Amino acid sequence: MRYWKPELIFAEFMGPPGQFVDQFGGIPWGLPEDKWPTCSGCEAPMSLLAQFAHHSDRLDLGKDGRVLYVFICGDDCETWDPECGANKVLILDDAEMKPGRTPLPPDLTPDHLLPECRITCWTAKDDGLSEELAPWFVSPDMDPSHSGLSEEDRVKPEYCTRLGSVPTWIQHIETPDGFRFAGQIVYCLEIHDPIHAKISCREVNGKTTCEIHTGRTHPLYIYPATDEKGKWFLEFADFGDCGMGYLFVDPDPVRPDGRFLWQCY
Ligand SMILES: [Zn+2]
Repeated sequence: MRYWKPELIFAEFMGPPGQFVDQFGGIPWGLPEDKWPTCSGCEAPMSLLAQFAHHSDRLDLGKDGRVLYVFICGDDCETWDPECGANKVLILDDAEMKPGRTPLPPDLTPDHLLPECRITCWTAKDDGLSEELAPWFVSPDMDPSHSGLSEEDRVKPEYCTRLGSVPTWIQHIETPDGFRFAGQIVYCLEIHDPIHAKISCREVNGKTTCEIHTGRTHPLYIYPATDEKGKWFLEFADFGDCGMGYLFVDPDPVRPDGRFLWQCY
């Protein structure tokens, strides 16, 4: 099955993008102020986890010009649950969008924003899994660990941040009823060299840990990739213990909808 991996740049020290771009974290583009979602648990405005534009292959939102926003509560609410109101997926038609970046709600400080990483390109790949085997990974009544799936097929979907193909669940299959899998987000994002950022590094138990100071109260944590120069892993979202977020979409032409949930070890 085809899937798309993002190339990411750390955008905290760059100016506003000038138009809607696919991105993780930061400030939404085009979202009307009155649609900024609040958490049903703590009633605080949620933080943008990602925004993506419709693409007929990569992310089918049911109509050209549509965009999708995923928000998540920055407090200790039950953000893993797709139904409890501590995260929110919004899909808007282009006619519903407002020009420019959305002003921050008054009670949302930069500390609540997730680190902004822009997607400079999507690389299309194929994991070799056939479409007929997809239900073994997405249908809650089918468990790939107790199936006739070969070990070779079971490990074909790549464990990474991407759109497309089927999810690599950390725990059990949890596809929300009536939704199709759209993509997944690892808690740590792989980014290119964060140019302009002042990074301070130290060794902790033989591992290099670095900090970027961005004007938040606390620094962001970042780790150099050991296998590729110029690549870093940025601690992006709190999905429990090294978790993964899963995105689902119902690309209905009239009432599109989405769900988000996460699992961890
Ligand atoms: Zn909350």
